[in-house]
Amino acid sequence: MPLIEFTDKGLYCPQGRFYIDPWRPVEKAVITHAHSDHARAGSAGYLCHRLTKPLLEWRLGPHPYETVEWGEPVFLHGVRVSLHPAGHIIGSSQVRMEYKGEVWVVSGDYKTEDDGLSGAFEPVRCDVFVTESTFGLPIYKWKPQPAIFTSIQEWVTENKGLGKTSVLIAYSLGKAQRLLLCLPAVTEKIYVHGAVWNIHQALVNAGVALPAVERVTPDMPRELFRGEVVIAPGSAEGSSWMRRFSPSAVGVCSGWMQVRGNVRRRNADAGFALSDHADWKGLLEAITATGAEKVFVTHGFQAVVSRYLNELGIEAAEVKTEYGEEEDAIAADLRSDSDVGGVVSSDAIAADLRSNSEAGGVASEGETGESEGPRTEDESIT
Ligand SMILES: [Zn+2]
Ligand SMILES: [Zn+2]
Repeated sequence: MPLIEFTDKGLYCPQGRFYIDPWRPVEKAVITHAHSDHARAGSAGYLCHRLTKPLLEWRLGPHPYETVEWGEPVFLHGVRVSLHPAGHIIGSSQVRMEYKGEVWVVSGDYKTEDDGLSGAFEPVRCDVFVTESTFGLPIYKWKPQPAIFTSIQEWVTENKGLGKTSVLIAYSLGKAQRLLLCLPAVTEKIYVHGAVWNIHQALVNAGVALPAVERVTPDMPRELFRGEVVIAPGSAEGSSWMRRFSPSAVGVCSGWMQVRGNVRRRNADAGFALSDHADWKGLLEAITATGAEKVFVTHGFQAVVSRYLNELGIEAAEVKTEYGEEEDAIAADLRSDSDVGGVVSSDAIAADLRSNSEAGGVASEGETGESEGPRTEDESIT
């Protein structure tokens, strides 16, 4: 009997009688991380990593939260459950389940590069691996974090010289905290939107060491922001809240910025392809490192990734879940854009992979065939 069943409430372990990241209230929920598509309110009991708890408290309110450290086993009806670093955001974990000698791992969201904040992704051996596939296309190939940080620092310095405020658009949980690692080198004060501030407070109160930030408040005079740096979530883009920073330059931080044209589409001045997810190569390396003989591919480009794995001789299947609807307005917007614009057909990808399999099948950006059609939906999300 499989250790995970894919049900209409989420990933269910029948032997242990618990769900992983359920999208409806259940008796027992094991939570991989605090992003809204993985962590929902209303369950009777929660199990999560110690650093996920303060984020869940802030996001879901008071519930019975049981916490563990990475690698610390808990037995749920005889199933040995342990959490392992996923490297995605602070507290993010993979879930390892062991029962009668069989091991399954559910990845949650993950990133294989160590960002210095979220814990280094740990490859966990298993028989069956359930993986995400958010950036599961060969066009997604990240530059190392230090290189992206240098680009951001240079951009901020340039804006300062021009008397412009640098407004960095970043997801408030994950990306915003990573930006804090590179900004103190080029600016004294870091101003943040209320959404970023709330998460910052929750983490600092839980003992996470983060650089100091200042919350933007309505009484602050506009001159205060001249040449300074502001971090704001995608929801603030194009809102009246942004007007106080004029003259400003807007830089969007998202893996989706890797695709040329997305910066322009968002009317941004700069795009930084900083992602909290593994790129194509990272996904394949992580999947291979598990040694799993069977892989289930969830939210993202499931079809492409599972087809590629099958071609490699690893048995893989797509699974439909309700993840991937993070409140990352940038991602949601650009993903729907890609669907409409037909960034790449999975056939084209498969053909490309076959001709390219030696080199890991990395297609150049120019091959994405992204359309230049006009945007129809309203960009501003408030
Ligand atoms: Zn996530
Ligand atoms: Zn996710």
